[in-house]
Parts: sequence; C-alpha cells; structure tokens
Amino acid sequence: MTEKETTGGTGSGQGNQPRGRGIPLRSARPPLRPRAPLNRRVGGSAPASTARPFTPRTAASAIPPSTYVRPGGDPTIHRNRNHGRAPISRGTGSGSISTGVRPAGRPQQRRNGGSTSSSPRPSRGGMGMGGRRMPPSNIRSVTRQSDGLSGKHFDDTRHRTEESREMRVHAEKKKVTIPPLAEGDVRVIVLGGVECIGRNMLAIEYGNDIVVIDCGFAFKDGDTPGVDFILPNTQYLEDRKDRVRAVLITHGHLDHIGGLPYILDRIGNPPVYTRNLTGMIIKKRHDEFPQLPALDLKIVETDDRVSFNDISVRFFKVTHTIPDSMGIIVETPYGVIVHTGDLKLNHVDGVPEPEEVKAFGAFAKEKVLLLMADSTNCERPGFSVPEPAVWRTLETLIHDASGRMLIATFASLLERIIKIIEVCERLNKKVVVDGRSMKANIELAEKAGMLKYKPGTLIPIEEMDNYPPDRIVMLVTGAQGDEFAVLMRAAYKKHKYLKIRENDVVLFSSSVVPGNERAVQKLKDLLSRQGAKIVHYQTSDVHSSGHANRDETMWIHSKIAPKYFIPLHGYHYMLRAHTEISMAVGTPRENCLIAEDGSIIEFREKGEKMVKLPMTAPKELIMVDGFSIGNIQEVVMRDRQMLAEDGIVVLVATVDLRPGKLMKSPDIIARGFVYVRESQELLNQARLIVKKTVEDACGAGMKGVNFEFLKEDVRDQVGKFLFQKTQKQPMVIPVLLGI
Ligand SMILES: [Zn+2]
Ligand SMILES: [Zn+2]
Repeated sequence: MTEKETTGGTGSGQGNQPRGRGIPLRSARPPLRPRAPLNRRVGGSAPASTARPFTPRTAASAIPPSTYVRPGGDPTIHRNRNHGRAPISRGTGSGSISTGVRPAGRPQQRRNGGSTSSSPRPSRGGMGMGGRRMPPSNIRSVTRQSDGLSGKHFDDTRHRTEESREMRVHAEKKKVTIPPLAEGDVRVIVLGGVECIGRNMLAIEYGNDIVVIDCGFAFKDGDTPGVDFILPNTQYLEDRKDRVRAVLITHGHLDHIGGLPYILDRIGNPPVYTRNLTGMIIKKRHDEFPQLPALDLKIVETDDRVSFNDISVRFFKVTHTIPDSMGIIVETPYGVIVHTGDLKLNHVDGVPEPEEVKAFGAFAKEKVLLLMADSTNCERPGFSVPEPAVWRTLETLIHDASGRMLIATFASLLERIIKIIEVCERLNKKVVVDGRSMKANIELAEKAGMLKYKPGTLIPIEEMDNYPPDRIVMLVTGAQGDEFAVLMRAAYKKHKYLKIRENDVVLFSSSVVPGNERAVQKLKDLLSRQGAKIVHYQTSDVHSSGHANRDETMWIHSKIAPKYFIPLHGYHYMLRAHTEISMAVGTPRENCLIAEDGSIIEFREKGEKMVKLPMTAPKELIMVDGFSIGNIQEVVMRDRQMLAEDGIVVLVATVDLRPGKLMKSPDIIARGFVYVRESQELLNQARLIVKKTVEDACGAGMKGVNFEFLKEDVRDQVGKFLFQKTQKQPMVIPVLLGI
C-alpha cells in the first residue's frame, strides 16, 4: 500500500510518542550508588589501572555489612567451585578488560543449580542455549513458556561469536549455485514484494539482458526495531550486473522507488526508465545522496518502446493514486510479460471508464505469456471507491466547513491534493500547506505542470490568522500519527503556528497503515480533546485506496487474459486471493504460481512450461540502519528486542589480581530492568553474587584464571539470580577489570 511510504519520514506507529512528555526518566533516576561515576567506566578503553588509591581490604570491610546480604540457602547460588579450570589462558593479563571470545571448541564445565556438570558446552548455534541462563526447572515451568527464551541472551562476547556464525551461514547460503539460464528460456526473479507490503522489486532475464522492474523498500516492522528501511536482497543482480540493462519504475511511491539510492550503485548503475513525475521524484530523492554517481534517468511515455539487446519493453497507462503511473510490457518471443505496477480502475458504479477500456482493450491484440499484478486489495469485494467520489465528498465538506479545515493525507496522493487546491480556489478559500513532504510534493506537481493556481490561493502559515477561520483549509502531514509530522506536533501543542481550536475540523483523508493504528488513535484523541471535530474514512468517503478490489481485478484479468499468472504486492494470503480471482476468469490452476522472496521462475520449451527452480536467489533481508546497510543484523535485532523487553544490567568489578579479591563492591548499572531506587536489596544481592563468583574463582590470586570463563560464570550466576527474583531476563554484561 504503498501509500505508507508517502508520508515521508514516517516511522512505525508504535511508540511514536513525542518527546518531552511524561517522566524524564533519566534525570529522575537516582544514581545507583552515589559514590561511583558509573557510566564513564563502562565500555571503551577502561581505565586499566584506576587512580583510586589501593587499600587492601577484606571483603567484609569493603562492603558495608548492611548492604551485603548473603543469599544463604539459595540453591542456585551455592555451587561447587572448580578453581583453576584447565586449560588456562593467560591471555587476559593484568589491567585489561576481558572482552575476547572464548577459544572455540573448548568444552566448558557448566554449573547449574548447585551441581557441577561437565557436559560439553552447548552449541552456540542461533537460538541455541549456549551461555543462556537456565532458570531452575521449577521456575521455568511457571514462566514464559518454552518459547523464545532461547537465544535471548547475548552479551558483548556473544555478539561476536553469533556474528561470525551468521556470516558463515550467510556465506554458505551464497554458495548455492543458481544454474545459468538456458538459451531460449525466460526467467523471472522475484526479489521482493510477495511476502509483505513494500520492497517491490523483480527482474526479468532473457538472452543476454536483465531488466529490473521497481526498486522499493519497506518500513521497519515489529521484528526490526530501530531499523530505518528494509531493502530487497539484490545479490542476484549484483552477481550479474554487467547484464542489467535497465531499471523500469512503475510509479513514484516509495515501496517502488525507495531502494534506488541504496541499490543502483550495487547493480552497476543501470539507466532508470520511468515517466515524468516519477522521474522528478526519483531525481529529488537521489539529490539527497550526494555521494552517489549521477542518475541516468530516461523519461518515457506510454507509447514508447525501448529495445535492449534481447529484450524490448513497452509501457501502458494505469490509474493509481499518484499521476504518471504505468504498467510494463516486456516482449519475449513467446508472448509478452505484463507487470501492472499498482493500479485500480476509474469507473462509474462498476463500469470502467472509456480510458480504461481503451488501455486494457489493447491487450486483445497481444499474446500474453505472463501477467504479474497488484494484489493489495484483492480480498475486498466489488469495486473500490473511485477517486472522483472522494473529491466530491471533500468538496462538500470544504464547502460546508464553518471553521478551519485541516486535511491530513498522504503527501504522495498528489491527484487528490491538486483537486483540493482547485476546489479551494473555486470556493474562495485560502490554502495553507505544512509539512516537509507535503510542500515538496506540491512543488514537484507545480514543476511538472500538473498544478496551477492563482497567486494568493496558497498562503504562508504565518498569515493564516489574518483570515476568518472558515476561509482556511490546511493541507498537512501526519495522518499516520507520525511523531514529528505537523498534526502530531499540533496535537501536542508543540506547533509554532498551528493551535487546535474549538470548531476546527480535522479530516483524515487516508487509511491507517497497518501498525499505525495506535498512534492514529492517540492522535485523534488528542485533537478531539482540544475541540476539533474528526472526520475519517470510516465516517465518510474521504479516502479511497489506490488498489483494485476483487471485481476490478477480475475485469483486468479478463482483458489481459494471460497464459500464466503470478500475483504480486501483498502478503501470501492476498496473493492467494488474487490467484483465485485469476482462476475464476479461466487461468488453469497449474498456470498460477505464488512466489516468495527470491523465487526464480523459468518459462521453458518456448513458453509451454512454467518451472519454479528449487533454489532461490539470495534473499536475506538487507536493512538500512543509520549509516549501515547490510544483512548480518539478526543478532542486533534480537538484542534490541531483548533490551526493549527486559533491559540491561552491566556489572563492573575491579579485581586486585594478586590476592584475587575485589577492590570494592561491584558497580551495577541497570537500565530498563527494574526501578533502581526500589530495588537496592536485589542489586546488593547481585553484587554479592558477583563478588563471590569472582573471588571463589580467583582463590588465592588471579594468576592463571581465565577471565573469559569467569565472565561467563558471573553472567550466568547473576542472570539466573535476577530471573529467579524478578522473572525478567535482562541482558547481563559483566565487565571485569584486573588491576
Ligand atoms: Zn505499491
Ligand atoms: Zn503505489
């Protein structure tokens, strides 16, 4: 849908809480222990030998007795110690923070619940249990089920092992060889857009040519917290970039163009073919990445035909929610391959308009080998609400408004935005545009010659209050409850010019993108509390989607009449619904195929046979995360989820190497785990465990003690203890300083 993108800079809905509300957690947080500047001592290069004057102290004197409670009787804490485990590494000498990785293949004696077991260390494999703290069995049964406890615990050392493992796995996966395309066969490689909404991309290969259709991205979802975007995996194309002739873009929504700045370079900077407005949008985005090579943009029109070595392509006009949308026709010797892009039909009461009849009527003359089409709304019955119906509703509402009208919509719904401005001009209203993406898109539409208005129709926001409220119509961003968009800022009274008033009408001319429901709900609530009247698509026809419903799709299928069919753009269940439509129109079941990311589909024997290869193109997701782009981030994602759920506990212990005693009570830094002020007792006990574990292991001195083993031990013991006491499994990171 596609419209999601459009709101530019929208994140996911959840957690879109504007800053500055609520309790300022950090400042209110009491220092864990007033005397230690804790934060500065973790990570980085620690002060190997702190300047703290060394006074030999016994454990008892080092920690005030009152804070030192022996967790006596706790079976999980009393363990048989096994001093000086062999083999002993001397690698972690004095004064270093031990962060190294445990040498591979060494069995470690693992102690659990009071007994010494010498079972070999469990594998560190993905969701394996290596290093994971196992609560005693009785506790485990009453807690979070069997579940995903596994693999939830990683620390700094774990990261590295996990990471290298995943790199290996990835490298292994890459070794799967994809056979070269046999002469005369046609291959379709689906790179994205068939397991989600977004990151639409596929490639068609014939002879010596590969053409790519669309290059989108998807926004993060619940599985990828913190990530900016998710890209399709383009390894297949990167390996064959000398044959990639072109990227053909159907329209300017981000789920179709968003990947270009990240991907074009990797696939050899092929020329990008698209229509005018889409080209302008692509160009504008590309300019935000000055480090990239120049864009080779070729503007085409729907009657153009472009020939490469072995493939020729043509285009056809489709109706969508952004102007200059098109479908793509790829010519092969066995018939054409038709890719619709996103589309719906202009129609009156279910009768397609003449322009649609003409555009799709042209397929009567074609031999269509394969159709690949938009599935987004295939489950919805009948025909979609035609856009002109939305315009009429909006006109009525704008006409009748007795106060200011704030229209929040996707900035990419350019046709609608243009209409709204036209209507306002006709009704002698003043239009105020606010929000970066909204302004940018209106500017683009003007440049493309699609929007014309008299001077004075659009007024700056500062002048808004010079007019009576019923003459003001605002076009704003933020219909998805985006944290930094205009509407949310206004709702939180953080907007410099826009203050919500009694009698304002806020019109959500949009649907709610899945995942944003809560944010939108909150937004409506806040606006309503300040007296605004809320109108949205469930209360009147103020929005229509850009995707064809079932009956429209059926009509499209009947006009294109393909031999084979592959549904695109949607989750699996949507694709399946689409397949059923195709079969209802007469495509044999065996000629319909539901693809997955990475699917490679070949048309053999002069197009008489459709075969899905048993292997796939590389398909691990590529994440754009800040400045980094890559696919080895599963571990990072798991860590983020874990931090979000259970928080983090850092244990800092400074060991005097000679006597093997702690120099002082360990420092504990906790975030997102428990409210520290009310949990001193718990943390004190944890300190005791750290101390006991370290000093037991060190015995008479640090000589010969493997810091890595010791750290793991500390983590296990403390993690287990915290789990017992709180039923939470925070990420536990021990930092041992030897002095
Ligand atoms: Zn789309
Ligand atoms: Zn679209």
